[in-house]
Parts: sequence; C-alpha cells; structure tokens
Amino acid sequence: MTYEFKGWAGYDKEAATGGLKYEAFEPKVFEDDDVDVKILYCGICGSDASVLAGEFGPIEAGRIAGHEIVGEVVRVGPKAEGLKLGDVVGIGAQSDSCLACEFCTGHKEQYCATPTFTFGSPYARGASAGQNSKGGFASHWRGPAHFAIPLPSGLDPAAAAPLLCGGVTVYTPLKRWGAGSERKRVGVLGLGGLGHMAVLIARAMGAEVTAISRGTSKEGDARKLGAGSYIATGADLAQDLAPHARTLDLVISTINPPKVDVAAYLGLLRPEGAFVTVGAVIEPFSFHSFPLITGGLSVGGSNTGSPDDIRELLALVAAHPEALPWVQKWDMGQINEAMVEFGKGAPRYRFVLANTGNGARL
Ligand SMILES: [Zn+2]
Ligand SMILES: [Zn+2]
Repeated sequence: MTYEFKGWAGYDKEAATGGLKYEAFEPKVFEDDDVDVKILYCGICGSDASVLAGEFGPIEAGRIAGHEIVGEVVRVGPKAEGLKLGDVVGIGAQSDSCLACEFCTGHKEQYCATPTFTFGSPYARGASAGQNSKGGFASHWRGPAHFAIPLPSGLDPAAAAPLLCGGVTVYTPLKRWGAGSERKRVGVLGLGGLGHMAVLIARAMGAEVTAISRGTSKEGDARKLGAGSYIATGADLAQDLAPHARTLDLVISTINPPKVDVAAYLGLLRPEGAFVTVGAVIEPFSFHSFPLITGGLSVGGSNTGSPDDIRELLALVAAHPEALPWVQKWDMGQINEAMVEFGKGAPRYRFVLANTGNGARL
C-alpha cells in the first residue's frame, strides 16, 4: 500500500481545546473482511468532544476520535462482501461486532454483547483483538466491510456524514416507535445537532413535528427545518407545557442536562404515547406511575442503530434531499479551531471536517 495512516490524536484533556496532534498511527491488522477507506469527510458529534475532554475518564495516549466518516474504498479484502474499489461509503459509531449472535444475525448489531465502537474501543475478534479502534479524524479508516455502508449515488457526501451517528441515533427510535405511521404527532425536545436531524427526519417520515426548545431563538430555524409547531420553554416548565397537554404521540428527547423533568414532558403525550430519550442524562428519571397507567404511556431509550438502519436512513434522505443535515464545513487541518468553536455551541447545526488533502471539497 502506498498510503500511511495518520490522524489527529489526543493525549490528555487538552485534546478538546486545541491539543490534537497530527501523527502517524498503526491501524488494526488487515483481515480478509476488512476494507481501507480514504477519509473525505467526518462530522463532529457531541460524544467526540465529551470523550476528548475526558468527561468519560482519561483517554489513552493517541486517541483518534470521529465517528461520522465518509470516504472512498481504496483496499478490499477477499471476504469484504458488497464493496469494491472506489465505492463511497459511510461508517458510524459502531465499527465491529461478533457477527454471530442472535442480535448480529438479526440485523440489530448495536445490541451485540461485544460491540467495537469506532474509536477507543477494543476489537473483540481477529488478530487485533484487544487493540483499540481509531476513528475518522484521520487520513484513513480500516475495518470490516459489514460496517461500511455505501452512500446512494447523488447524496451529498459531506452533508450525509452526520447521518451516520447523529442521524441514525434519532432515526432508529423514530422508526421503532412508528413516527409518521401509528404515531403521527412527534415532538422533538432540544434543537442541537441531534434535534435538528430529528425534525428533518421525522418530517421526511411523514410526521407532524413540534419542536420544543428553550426560548424563542431557534423558532425560525425549527420552522425552516419543517416543524409545524414550536413550544418555547422558560423558567416554569410545567406552565409552558400546560397549553400543549395531550397533543403529541411521541416525544424524542435529545437533551442531556444533568437532570430532565420527564414527568412534565409526559403531560404532552396523548394516550399510548411514548417518551424516548437518546440523550444520556446523569440524574435518574423520576415520575409517578399514574400517568403511565391511565394514559397507557411508555418511556424508552435508544442508542445508535444497525448497518441496516443506516442503509434505510441514507435511502430515505436520498429520496428526501430536504432532510439533509445543515452542515458547516471546516478543513480537517483546522480541527483544533473547529473543536474549540464546537465547544462554544457554535454549530448550526453540525460541523463536518473536510479532508482536503484527500480531495474533499470545502
Ligand atoms: Zn456520535
Ligand atoms: Zn453479536
């Protein structure tokens, strides 16, 4: 091979605030079912920033984050099914699983007991077992073809990148809880990176969307994204939500402050409605059983999605280009500046790094 694997590596908690260093790294051993991907674009997801900042504990030296990867296949193993040289593929938050258990064979690989996440996560099988994975803030990615999903032709590869983690994270529960079919009226709580994609995708699925966000500053954007209604919340949540009681069939919560008043949001649900969180909230949820019983309500959660979920979402957005995420592109060489701006909450609504050295366009 004529290329070297290089990436923007973190060593300590300064990694999220300008301390990433561009350096060569050793990828996993190339297995028969692997591909190498020349990285063109990679989205910045909230968990990249959290991990690099050490919020989940100290990072190992040389951590390369990034898990919304789009690139071109440049090497194909003899057992890498379904891919050929030159294919443009996307890789999300999960990079491997056992491929043998009931969840893997049932197309729900995200529930495998031995998942490998796309960065800083040990491989569970093959010659690289125990070695940590490396993510997409890099020149190349190497991993099993099973987790590299071809992009439909015509889909903008830069704008598609955030679909691979953030997008599928909200698509999977929207599908599972029947957004646009048995549950028509969908509320999206929070309008950050995930929330803006939830509005776009729920609309594309045929739902009527209500955006719920603090204050009124994002109302204009919410309506442009496709929300038909907007609920502005302020100091008194119960009072702000009261006029909208029993109006929604499903609420997807994308927020992750230390504490969320789930009981207040349950009041928005119509009978048999569901409140589903994709935001990891530290404080335990607290609510009474009565509303659940009398309304037949449910409370759930969801984490990323399977390769099939990603495939479905990419096809959905290819058919509904108005549902492409709103992205702002940065040259990947300016990743340290981009991370600092990301930390200030600047994205409207997702930053995507373009690896111009590999031919990506700004
Ligand atoms: Zn993510
Ligand atoms: Zn498995």
